[in-house]
Amino acid sequence: MKKHLLFLGPPGAGKGTQAAILSEANAYLHLSTGELLRQEIDSHTLLGKQVKGIINKGELVSDQLVLEIVKKNLNKENKGWILDGYPRNLSQVNSLNDVLIKLNQPLEIVFYLDIPEEVLIKRLLMRGRKDDNEETIKTRLEIYKKTTEPLIEYYKNLSLLQYINADGDLKNISTDIKQKMA
Ligand code: ADP
Repeated sequence: MKKHLLFLGPPGAGKGTQAAILSEANAYLHLSTGELLRQEIDSHTLLGKQVKGIINKGELVSDQLVLEIVKKNLNKENKGWILDGYPRNLSQVNSLNDVLIKLNQPLEIVFYLDIPEEVLIKRLLMRGRKDDNEETIKTRLEIYKKTTEPLIEYYKNLSLLQYINADGDLKNISTDIKQKMA
């Protein structure tokens, strides 16, 4: 079974939900950069104060900052992990490659959660997180298309990509993912 996984897809595709189910079932580490950043904001740390405005506008936090977070949280013990929300651009891909080479833990599979844009917008507005208003959603989708979507092609060329239809029942999607990672 694959141990080093990445979830790719637009905001609202269900990456966090599916990564949580899978990490719990396998005792893998679930590394969500968005979640870790939100924790920093809630704990009123210096880092949290630095990123709060950026996140609430729907923009990307600096590559340097997220890299520090990833390095700090990626396990040195050899337990499986699921990356969720990182990398988000090609520069982050390169940094991640360096980190993983050093750890000798190569990425084994990338799940691309695909979903129509209308469904995404509805889901995000229903979720109602602080950065889930119409204006911010628009910004996040634009950034996703411009900077994150090219990563699909990148991982496809490395033969790491697995396509998941993420518009459907949560359990069916989860079953599909489990079958593909076996
Ligand atoms: P979503 O996928 O719904 O946008 P996330 O929890 O993944 O939610 O991310 C929330 C916010 O956190 C992003 O809009 C961005 O501001 C910041 N963020 C998360 N991951 C990264 C990253 N890898 N690089 C830069 N910013 C990030």
